[in-house]
Amino acid sequence: MEQILPPGSEQQRTLPWAQIVRIYERDSYTCRYCGFPAAPDLETWWQGSLQVDHIKPRRKGGENNDDNLVTSCRSCNLAKSGKSFDSFEAAKEHVLKYRDTVGRDYYKKHVEATRGKWGR
Ligand SMILES: [Zn+2]
Repeated sequence: MEQILPPGSEQQRTLPWAQIVRIYERDSYTCRYCGFPAAPDLETWWQGSLQVDHIKPRRKGGENNDDNLVTSCRSCNLAKSGKSFDSFEAAKEHVLKYRDTVGRDYYKKHVEATRGKWGR
């Protein structure tokens, strides 16, 4: 059966669709890091606000088992980037510490820069 996934979904390369859904269901479509209820259900998730994050990335030896996977919103996933953690608690601490900084930088770079370009 062919799997249909939204464009840009990184998970499609590494995780089976059934597992992605299983993780979302387990975490109630809520970001495990910040608690943001990014999507009430699969239908809404389709709009792209949630991702499945590896606590320990694959290229750092992390595995595709459920224990190494958490539901994450985009902001938190951005804050965590490619960093590797041995436990969810350690990852969460890092993410919550840096997500505001990352968000502000992103805003400056993409929003304010664009505004400047259009002039006033
Ligand atoms: Zn989050």
